Amino acid sequence: MSPFLVLFVVFSYLAWIKWIYDRDRRSLVNSLKHMMNISSANEVNVRALIVTAHPDDECMFFAPAIIRLVELNASVHLLCLSEGNYYNQGAQRRQELLNSCSTLGIPASRVTIINHKNLPDDPKAEWSISLVSSIIMKHMTAHSISMVLTFDGRGVSGHANHIAINKAVRHLAYTGEASEGCVLLSLVTVGLFRKYISFLELPISWLLPSRLCCISGSQGYKQAKAAMVCHHTQLLWFRHLYITFSRYMFINTFQEIPQGPKNLKIY
Ligand SMILES: [Zn+2]
Repeated sequence: MSPFLVLFVVFSYLAWIKWIYDRDRRSLVNSLKHMMNISSANEVNVRALIVTAHPDDECMFFAPAIIRLVELNASVHLLCLSEGNYYNQGAQRRQELLNSCSTLGIPASRVTIINHKNLPDDPKAEWSISLVSSIIMKHMTAHSISMVLTFDGRGVSGHANHIAINKAVRHLAYTGEASEGCVLLSLVTVGLFRKYISFLELPISWLLPSRLCCISGSQGYKQAKAAMVCHHTQLLWFRHLYITFSRYMFINTFQEIPQGPKNLKIY
């Protein structure tokens, strides 16, 4: 293949990425308004709740969504269901999480970290779906949440604690317990190849259907990286590779979790 043709293909691909990025900057507000049935001309007025299992999930997986929502003046809350105490570093990881959230634009007053003996940070532990769903539900009610963002059924990394949260949110959706007008979204897990080609993955995400797509630019990437660095206890060599190559540092796509009829009683 001629080198000119190779150069042409490379530049065309990069130009396509830039075009998708610019389009997303303009269209995200409208996507949110459409999804949430907001008619107001200027304000987005979203009260978003990110539900994670461990300190560092917020920046490893959800940084683009958090950064874009904060940019749009949405009220972003974080509910982390464990202290990440697998190696008895819970107290330190709690502080790291607060620092990371502050870097991403979530103040400490909007961060809740659960420390419950039945919700250990452990891939072998089976978290109770009813316990997790009741904690999430209480939090949604207390903060009048209008949008919940969490893991999908594969949990991005496959961690059992991530998957348990998805099951709990799907339980809330199925039983119709989530308040009227609240949108429940799950973060799409992509395969290994797509996961580790960084922003080059963007056209694939753009071509595939999703309910919400959040894309960070270079500034957002720096913010996500700074948040990752706040987690000192987790900065092993492979984390640096993750920061360099993961598409979740730039791109989040979500699918909506369909909800059942309101107040369905299950006997
Ligand atoms: Zn995790």
